[in-house]
Amino acid sequence: MNDYDLMAELLLPRIDKTPDYYENLYPKRSIPEGARVTRIAPSPTGYLHLGTLFAALVNRITATASRGIFYTRIEDTDKKREIEGGIEDIIDGLNRFGIAIDEGFISGQEEKGEYGPYRQSRRAEIYGAYAKELIRKGLAYPCFCTEEELEEVRSRQEAEKLRTGYYGKFAKHRDISYNEAKALADSGKPFVVRLKSPGREQNKIIFDDVIKGKIEMPENDEDFVLLKSDGIPTYHFAHAVDDHLMGTTHVLRGDEWISSVPKHIQLFKILGFKPVRYGHIAPIMKLDGGAKRKISKRKDPEAAVRFFAEQGYDSESVINYLMTIAASDFEDWRRANPCESYKKFKFNLKKMSVSGALFDENKLIDVSKNTVSRMSGEEVYGKLTEWAHEFDKEFYVLLTRDPEYTKAVVSIDRDAAKPRKDIAKWNEAKDYFSYFYNELYTPSSEYPDNVSKDDVIKFLEEYKAVYDPADDRQVWFDKIKQIAPGLNFAAESKEYKANPQNYKGQAGDLSTVLRIAVTGRRNTPDLCSIMKVLGKEEVFRRIDSAVKSI
Ligand code: GLU
Repeated sequence: MNDYDLMAELLLPRIDKTPDYYENLYPKRSIPEGARVTRIAPSPTGYLHLGTLFAALVNRITATASRGIFYTRIEDTDKKREIEGGIEDIIDGLNRFGIAIDEGFISGQEEKGEYGPYRQSRRAEIYGAYAKELIRKGLAYPCFCTEEELEEVRSRQEAEKLRTGYYGKFAKHRDISYNEAKALADSGKPFVVRLKSPGREQNKIIFDDVIKGKIEMPENDEDFVLLKSDGIPTYHFAHAVDDHLMGTTHVLRGDEWISSVPKHIQLFKILGFKPVRYGHIAPIMKLDGGAKRKISKRKDPEAAVRFFAEQGYDSESVINYLMTIAASDFEDWRRANPCESYKKFKFNLKKMSVSGALFDENKLIDVSKNTVSRMSGEEVYGKLTEWAHEFDKEFYVLLTRDPEYTKAVVSIDRDAAKPRKDIAKWNEAKDYFSYFYNELYTPSSEYPDNVSKDDVIKFLEEYKAVYDPADDRQVWFDKIKQIAPGLNFAAESKEYKANPQNYKGQAGDLSTVLRIAVTGRRNTPDLCSIMKVLGKEEVFRRIDSAVKSI
């Protein structure tokens, strides 16, 4: 055994497998030429946030477009920051948004696939094997520096206006001998394992980011940590080992990682891994007091994906909206293909914005209205009741009391060629549909100014005498027009416009009276349909009580 072998045994005595073992255990994926294997690798240190959902979407559609694979890996190496239920929230959230997961964690508890475990805390031995091999080759070494020592070096570097970090002459243990290491380890001093970086700052590396294009950066010369003192890998090391063994072809991740690329490229090379392609996704931004800034988990409620669920934005709306951020050509495609699933869109990473796109809730509302307008009544019923079940129990009870009635309510004006676009999210539905449920209905007696109280009463009573729920829209309005002249209202708006002085108003004013009497509102979807759904008995009851309360 040479000194490096002895060092490897000293530092990682319990690791008894070599990288070869894992290379055989996880053979290359047999996927078609050009198929992309992508992933998201969230840390369960918080709930699913918009940035993660966005990255998942971009990775998913990239895999789909190439008939590849999209998988999830849980990066839970920071046990101190982990939150209870974090994995569930993230994975269930992706499921809820229809981001299909081919492999890895497919729910909070279940993982599937041949390349697992898909949770880093269960892969310690794998990282150990690769680290041990690097130590054996003299490419990694133990560092026994304490926090205080490192802090002291940093202060010195800052004082001398030098780049901070563990590199070059500041890399105290870079050439530590086996005997020195043994003495320190035997005395119980904790150590980390660092990479012996062969890089030089003066050298440049160039890489072709699949989103941002060519990027030039200085080579890494830092002896960064591979394994922490508890044997847990750093993100850098785990990323290289995992993405290699799991056969990732494209790492599409937040652009906060761009500065780490030199480290990652170096690691892949030293470990003898085929490099992956990187693509760095610009963050979603927000306007704050006129300035653009990254959406913040701490400051912005919309950073948590749960916000959208609570508000009742349909998952499809949010995804359609995120697609408009992901691809500059998506909106044109959507206009040409209003009814297709976004999954049919040919996504191209090159069309992604390289600087952060602005989160625009008005745009989301707009996209949502369009998305909801394309849904069938049956679909709206299903989604609305599902939302209400979780977020508005009282409304849920009303909605499900008579499912056929509610389905009729939500179907009004829906199957028309130009369906109404007025609901963006389910939390607006209660107010929007309130007059269909007596518990929520608030009558109004704010009639148009040009219709006297007397005329309101006369009109409503005459109307009752002729109303027939079987009438279609045309007949329904014709009956109002027939009553109009007797009250000195013009039947046709043309007549009224020609000689306004001759009339108190026009038939449209009278239909407004009816609308207010029946729904308590001036604006609603098609009143004829509303009255059919409410039923003659309820319509008459409301008309009678409107007449009484005048
Ligand atoms: N665990 C890292 C994060 O949550 C993953 C970054 C990556 O995708 O490689 O930011």
